[in-house]
Amino acid sequence: MTYTKAFFEQLDKQDPLASFQAKFALNAGEIYLDGNSLGARPKAALARAQQVVEQEWGQDLIRSWNKHQWFELPYRIGNKIASLIGAQDGEVVCTDATGLNLYKAVSTALQLNPSRKVVLMEGSNFPTNNYMVQGLLSQLGDDYQVRFVEEAQLLEQIDEQVAVVCLTQVHYKTGRVLDMQAITEYAQQKGCLVVWDLCHSAGALPVDLNGANADLAVGCTYKYLNGGPGSPAFIFVAKRHHNRAQQPLSGWWGHSAPFDFKRDYQPGFGISQMLSGTQAILSLTVAEVGIDLMCAADMQALRKKSQALTRYFIELLDQECGQYGFELVSPRDDEKRGSQVALSHAQGYPIMQALIDAGVIGDFRAPDILRFGFAPLYNSYVDIWEAVQRFKSIMDNEHWREAQFNQRHAVT
Ligand SMILES: *Cc1c(COP(=O)(O)O)cnc(C)c1O
Repeated sequence: MTYTKAFFEQLDKQDPLASFQAKFALNAGEIYLDGNSLGARPKAALARAQQVVEQEWGQDLIRSWNKHQWFELPYRIGNKIASLIGAQDGEVVCTDATGLNLYKAVSTALQLNPSRKVVLMEGSNFPTNNYMVQGLLSQLGDDYQVRFVEEAQLLEQIDEQVAVVCLTQVHYKTGRVLDMQAITEYAQQKGCLVVWDLCHSAGALPVDLNGANADLAVGCTYKYLNGGPGSPAFIFVAKRHHNRAQQPLSGWWGHSAPFDFKRDYQPGFGISQMLSGTQAILSLTVAEVGIDLMCAADMQALRKKSQALTRYFIELLDQECGQYGFELVSPRDDEKRGSQVALSHAQGYPIMQALIDAGVIGDFRAPDILRFGFAPLYNSYVDIWEAVQRFKSIMDNEHWREAQFNQRHAVT
C-alpha cells in the first residue's frame, strides 16, 4: 500500500497512549527521535525540581533526609523501576551510573561462581560495559579474562569456562533484541550466571527479569524512562543471590548501619548493599517524575505502539527515500527490533546534521549509523510522516552537502 498523511492521522486518533504526549515538554515544529539517548522532559519535572530546590533543600535543609524521605529515595524509585522490569520490591535500587552498577554486578556474579574466570560479552556492545569489565578483571588478576563474541557465535561460546555472561538485551546501535529467557536458561544450564543490561529495554518494551530467572541486571533512567540528563541508573539482584557476596565499592551507604559510624565495613542486608555513597538527590527526585509516568502506561500497549512506529518509519522511508542507498541495520522483524531504527549510509554524519537542522532530532553513531529512537509516550504516528517528508526533502535537494553539516561536534 501507499502511505498517506491521513493514514497516520487516523492511527493517532485510535492510539490508547495518545494522552501521554501532552505531559511532555516538546518543542513546537520539532520531531524528537532521540529518546533512546536522552528522553524528553516531563512537564511536571520543572515544578518538582523547583519544589526540591526551594523547599526541601532551601528551607528544610538537613531535615529533609528524614522529613522528605531523601534517604529512602533509591529504594522507593528502585521499587517503581522493579515493577517495569519484572522484579519484586527489594530487588532494585536506583543509584550511580550504569557502568558503575555493572562493575558491582559483574563482580558480585564472579564471586557467586568462584571456580570460573571468564566473562563473556558482546564486543560490539556499548563500550563502557567492556571498559568496566576490563577494569574489574585487571584488578582481579591475570587468570581472569573477558571473551568477546558476537551474536552469531553467542550460544556456542557459552561453555564450562564461562563464569558470567554479560549481555545488553537491546543493542545500542542496531536495536536488535536478544531472547532474554532462552539465553538465560541456556547459560544457567552451562553453569553460568547472567547479567543483563537494560539500558535500551527499560521503558522501551516489557521486561520480565524474574520470569526469565535473571541473576543480576543494570540499566539507565535517562533514556526511555525520561529521568533527565545524567539521572541515576539502577541495579537488580535476584533475591536468591542476596547476602551471598560483597560488592566491591563498599561505601558507607551500603553498610548495615551507616549511622553507627563503625570502623569496619559490614555489608547491608539485601539490595541495600548495592549503594555506595551519598545519593544525587536532585537527580533522583526529578527522575521519579519520568518513572511515575512510565508506571502509569500499559507496557503491552507501549510495545505495540513502539513496533508500529518503527515499522511504519521503515516502510515509509522505503517508499519516500528508497533510491538513496540507505541500508536498514535494525531487524525488519518486529519481534527482534527494540524501539529504534538504525540505518547505515556512507554520508550518515552530514545527513544527520542536516536532519537535525531541519528539526528531525536523531543521532549518529560511528562509523556510519543514523539512529532514530521512538518513544511511544510522546511520539505520534504523524511524527513519522513529518520526519520522513523532511528526510526526503534533504535527500532530494542534496541539502546535506552544505559545508556546515560536515563539521564534527564532540557529542554526536
Ligand atoms: C546508555 C548506555 C550506557 C550508559 O552508561 P553510563 O555509565 O550510565 O554512562 C551503558 N551501557 C549501555 C548498553 C548503554 O546503552
